[in-house]
Amino acid sequence: MDKLDHIFNSFVSTTLFRNKAVLQSNYSPDTIPHRDDQIASVAAILAPALRGERVSNLFVYGKTGTGKTLSVQRVGQRLLAKVAELGNDHLRFVYINCKLKKVADTEYRILAELINILGGSVPSTGLPTDTVYVKFVELIDKRKQTLLIVLDEIDQAVKKISDNFIYNFTRLNTELNHAQISIIGISNDVTFMDHLDPRVRSSLGEEELVFPPYNAIQLQDILRERAGHAFQKGVVEEGVIAKCAAFAAREHGDARRALDLLRVAGEIAEREGNKNIGISHIDIANQKIERDKMLDIIESEPKQFQLVLSAILSLHERQHGKSIYTGDVYSAYNLICEKTKNDVLTQRRVSDILAEFDMLGIINTRVISKGRQGRTRDIRLMLAPPLQTKAKEIVEKAIYS
Ligand code: ADP
Ligand code: MG
Repeated sequence: MDKLDHIFNSFVSTTLFRNKAVLQSNYSPDTIPHRDDQIASVAAILAPALRGERVSNLFVYGKTGTGKTLSVQRVGQRLLAKVAELGNDHLRFVYINCKLKKVADTEYRILAELINILGGSVPSTGLPTDTVYVKFVELIDKRKQTLLIVLDEIDQAVKKISDNFIYNFTRLNTELNHAQISIIGISNDVTFMDHLDPRVRSSLGEEELVFPPYNAIQLQDILRERAGHAFQKGVVEEGVIAKCAAFAAREHGDARRALDLLRVAGEIAEREGNKNIGISHIDIANQKIERDKMLDIIESEPKQFQLVLSAILSLHERQHGKSIYTGDVYSAYNLICEKTKNDVLTQRRVSDILAEFDMLGIINTRVISKGRQGRTRDIRLMLAPPLQTKAKEIVEKAIYS
């Protein structure tokens, strides 16, 4: 068999996966191990809606991948099933993910999205926000109903809008005669509440629920359940699940990370033409995920960040990996800005950007004293060589196109 034949065959007969979608993050598993208590609590808080009573606003928080979205959506599905079984129609469960662009960039957009989901319509821009509020109230107050509105990743919306919109939302009930709304806010940022205006905090946080991280044993249970559906029988070698779980437990008990690791390891093993997924594939998968995460971060940085990074990358190349000084970065950055006709930030602002790069692990900076000339910082690029090439491509594309 020649080389191409080998490559093609590995795609034609996928020997490892039975159903890869089971490992994707939007898959809804039948069972949700280790979240019984949290699911029961959410259900108990929301259940009065079945009797048409107003439900307390609820704030759900915990690190990413702790099953918040999955659990809240599951309770929502079950509530709606119950309502259908009872034959009434006075309960609506509406889900919005505030991280999505064009959905939650502005208070207007969130309202427009809600109105659309509830079967009304508003132009996507143009009206004063107050008018959109009036339309929203008209739409939902036509009849007696309870609306449970989930604002997932609500911290992202607050970052973009300010926390005032939450207050406006929670205050809506005073204008409603027939309908009533309750807000279920979900946040991956566990310190989110600390930064809120006290009146917003007390209204959103009528009830609060924390989702703790999973430990390695719990992650193994979750993975084993999913792996059973995702892969052909017997292809996952001994120790693979445990290793995925151990890696993800270190990443603050993130089930998403655990599932990604297993999926990527499967893809790597398959591409290599292996009949099994082994422990070594998990290591490679972990490196790949780390790399992709770093590149995503670099890609999403604002232009000025990319100009500074571009300066660092070219200095690093020119100096063959020797350390770089802040002053050199600033000069190189100046040249690039000039060449690309971009505004030049002050040295102070560039220092802030460098501090951020340090925090992200892109560079490592060290303060060194240069005697009478004062102090400077010594910068070392922390990206592995293959990553440097990719980063350079991303940055140049962003700057020059
Ligand atoms: P969060 O919203 O807290 O960031 P998610 O609910 O999106 O986390 O969960 C992340 C991923 O992990 C999803 O693919 C989800 O299906 C899976 N997951 C999380 N907790 C569990 C669990 N207890 N059982 C099965 N899968 C889970
Ligand atoms: Mg989530």
